[in-house]
This record gives sequence, C-alpha cells and structure tokens, in this order.
Amino acid sequence: MYERLRRELAYIQGLLEGTQKQDSIEQKALGRLVDIIDELIEATQQMDKRQLELEEYVEAIDDDLNDLELVAYEDEEEMLELICPECGEHVLVDSADVEDETMELLCPKCHTVLDIEDVSDQEENDTVEDGEGI
Ligand SMILES: [Zn+2]
Repeated sequence: MYERLRRELAYIQGLLEGTQKQDSIEQKALGRLVDIIDELIEATQQMDKRQLELEEYVEAIDDDLNDLELVAYEDEEEMLELICPECGEHVLVDSADVEDETMELLCPKCHTVLDIEDVSDQEENDTVEDGEGI
C-alpha cells in the first residue's frame, strides 16, 4: 500500500516539476502539500510497523498466559480433598499419591491411616473444586 502511495506522490511531483509556472503561489502551495503528504505516509508506515510488533507481542503474551492457565488448572485438578473418618480433619492430597496403592496416607491431625478406597469414592462428589467444607 505504501509503495503505491509513494508512486502516486512521485507522479504528482513530476507533474508539478514539469509545469512552466514554477514560481507561482499555486505551485508552491501544491509543492508544500506534496511534502506534507510524504511525511504523513512515512509517519503512518512507522505506526503500522509498531502496531504489528505490538500485535505479535500481545499474541506471545496470550500464548504464555494460556500455558500458565493450563499448568495452574492441572495443579488444581490433581489436588484432592478428603475427610478423616476419625477426627473430621480435611486433608488435601495429591491424586497421584492416591493412585499409588503402596503409599499410606495419614491424617496430619490424628495420624489415622486414611483408606484409599474411601478416597476414590469421595473423588466424584468431594473434590477441592467445589470448595465446600473447607
Ligand atoms: Zn484425623
């Protein structure tokens, strides 16, 4: 687009230079107008360039933010809340630990061994995400 504008402007400039009355007020005014338009084209092109750079930058930030949201969301999902059957303490555990059957989960308050079977049953309706009972 800018190349075409510059060509048009150069053509007008050529017309002005080819006329006989170089020193007339009209010619001078037109010459000034051409200079001003030239400056405007330059300024607009610079702005366009910076706008493009900004758009690319914002897109990169948006991508990074998406990655962060994904990580944060995954972390939230992996945490599981269960309730100690002995003292009623709410215990947050990693769901990866729950799936590991060799691991013993202890209530941090009364040190009762928490039954992993119970935990799996609770998983469906008592996840951290519903936020109840905390
Ligand atoms: Zn307990």
